[in-house]
Amino acid sequence: MNVRQEALRSILSRALSPKGDKAVKTKEIFGESVFHRTAMKSYLSDQAYKTLSDAMEKGRVLDSGVAGAVAGGIKAWAIDKGATHYTHWFQPLTGRTAEKHESFLAFLEGEPIEKFSGTELSQQEPDASSFPSGGLRTTFEARGYTAWDSSSPVFLLDTSFGTTLCIPTIFVSYTGQSLDYKMPLLKSISKINQAATDLCQFFDVKVSKVTPTLGLEQEYFLVDKNYYLLRPDLYQTGRTLFGAKPARGQQMSDHYFGAIPERIYAFMNELELEAHRMGIPLKTRHNEVAPGQFECAPVFESVNIAIDHGLMIMDLLDRIANKHGLVALLHEKPFAGLNGSGKHNNWSLMTDSGKNLLSPGSKPGENLMFLSFFVCVIKAVWEHSGLLKAAIVSAGNDLRLGSHEAPPAIISVFLGHQLDKVLKDIENPPRKKRNEDVDPLMHLGIASIPELLLDNTDRNRTSPFAFTGNKFEIRAVGASANSSLAMTVLNTIVAEQLIEFRSRVKSKINRGRPQDLAVLDMLKEFITESKNIRFEGDSYSKEWVELATKRSLATSSRTPDALASLIQYPSIKLFKKMGVMSEAELKSRHDVLTEKYLQQGLMEAQVMKELIMTNVLPASSEYQSALSDLALKKNELGINNNGELSLLRKLTKIGEELLFGLEEIDKSLDELLGINDKVEQARKFSNILPNQLVFCREKIDQLEVLLPDQSWPFPKYRELLLIR
Ligand code: ADP
Ligand code: MG
Repeated sequence: MNVRQEALRSILSRALSPKGDKAVKTKEIFGESVFHRTAMKSYLSDQAYKTLSDAMEKGRVLDSGVAGAVAGGIKAWAIDKGATHYTHWFQPLTGRTAEKHESFLAFLEGEPIEKFSGTELSQQEPDASSFPSGGLRTTFEARGYTAWDSSSPVFLLDTSFGTTLCIPTIFVSYTGQSLDYKMPLLKSISKINQAATDLCQFFDVKVSKVTPTLGLEQEYFLVDKNYYLLRPDLYQTGRTLFGAKPARGQQMSDHYFGAIPERIYAFMNELELEAHRMGIPLKTRHNEVAPGQFECAPVFESVNIAIDHGLMIMDLLDRIANKHGLVALLHEKPFAGLNGSGKHNNWSLMTDSGKNLLSPGSKPGENLMFLSFFVCVIKAVWEHSGLLKAAIVSAGNDLRLGSHEAPPAIISVFLGHQLDKVLKDIENPPRKKRNEDVDPLMHLGIASIPELLLDNTDRNRTSPFAFTGNKFEIRAVGASANSSLAMTVLNTIVAEQLIEFRSRVKSKINRGRPQDLAVLDMLKEFITESKNIRFEGDSYSKEWVELATKRSLATSSRTPDALASLIQYPSIKLFKKMGVMSEAELKSRHDVLTEKYLQQGLMEAQVMKELIMTNVLPASSEYQSALSDLALKKNELGINNNGELSLLRKLTKIGEELLFGLEEIDKSLDELLGINDKVEQARKFSNILPNQLVFCREKIDQLEVLLPDQSWPFPKYRELLLIR
């Protein structure tokens, strides 16, 4: 029996466990692991409760006078729930979350006690010097601080082996520069709140707060752990570097929304149970398009919380999958030739009275408000499409974007037929009948947008930035990404346009233009200025690439090119003006992301080389040796051995090609390592290495279908994707 057959045997013999608890009622357990209102009420004094609620609502730093009392309440609650440790939970530039656990254990007069002080809750100084900082600090002055983001409640990480109290924090350097994804996000939220609230005053003076909202869909693959562990490419790089196309891929279109297999069901149930206990409102689950691919999505929340929850979901996916003998793959393109995985970021703006600013109303005035926000978003994407792209690119996403239902790397905005027409009519009003005195709002169809939208079922899966009725959906974010950067960029660029829009309307009003008409004029100006970012057609088509080039949109699909936008003057100016990130902070992100891209690629090249030399070629040689023996024997017996000889020639040729491919990779690596400048290195890398990896992959895939199934050492695509 070979390793793959052994793996199969153990998959077949596994029991479906652990058994789901059907008696659990979601509404009863929802949020039980979060220190939220109910827990706060029973564990805090009235004053502590009030101060904390206030800090949470306004995202303010907790007053140090009350921090001790709050920490005491949190400690009592956490210990009642079985917690032994606490950690500041933060979001370094690695892209995932970080935690360094401390026990509650302390000693009083030699006796062990449980201690958790106000300072321990509010601020920490984890050494944490090994996180990428992109030059923001050097190891010899490595102090980094974490501080509680009180707008995000503390929660319990409950595993089979222990419970830890997690405190969501920002992570900053000694000099106050952000070393994480959360702090700039919080600043961008505050900026867009201010800008949107100000603009709302034209239409609704009662609005005193606007919150950006996010509904984060997460796509992922599940593979059996027994197979996963036999694929060193998968567990080292997150994706398969080779694998022949299986006969059954996604061509039958029968997986999407199909019946969820029992074993996956068990996994999903447990995932949701844990998520619900942690207050994550997971709502949707289904099979995705590729075999072995799935999706989950929570109900939308404020962007900050949605991102924390998104990261918690990624962690839960890993953890719960493991309990079920599965591995969740969050890579953007784990399997060539099939759909990749993304995070669809559904984004909108919500007022404190619960009105969605991207949802058209039923009166012309309301629609003028809707259109103002709507058009500012489009204008923002137009002005900073390069920056938005920089926020979504990665080595994994380079492989995903541009095919199999993933949007291409060119950023454009899709509105759907009806709204496209509304904007076109505002830009070039249809002619009125002579002498007809028509209200311009009625005339332009602004009064009747909701009715139009009711049957707006347009879905353009090839668009990276699509309006979907009452929100924009950014489909280009990668499955493994922390969406913070994309959301920070979006909040900031939209805030800039809201401010610009308002000030230009104001100056028109000051010059005597009635408000409605001043807004309408501005809409027209913004629509005209930004129309080149709109595209309603097929974003995969060759025509679009040509058109986009004519429109001067960035068409390169490579990460290092796209990342350059982060440190170009318009971005630096924007972030500085909006007070969201300094030039140094932008540069650090640029450097960290460039380095990450490069390291991922170098790792892939190394894994490829190693597996070819140590597994692929030896397997082929062994078969060739058996074939030559057979050919010789047949010759001795006077039997035709043309079949063996022809196969031998084929295998020899592929072997030679593979060795050639390896030499080429080595040459490129030598050349690359001679380049000092990281950006230059990454650029050069992106030009050569991906193609060289594809060359080798094609040869390996040819071998996979020539060698006896028995002697192929790696689980095949059909096994990884279809057996569970
Ligand atoms: P689809 O897969 O058709 O795009 P889903 O229902 O799976 O749609 O996901 C849509 C996501 O958009 C959900 O997370 C939903 O909560 C979210 N959403 C709905 N309204 C808003 C809004 N106003 N702001 C942000 N997200 C929203
Ligand atoms: Mg969607």
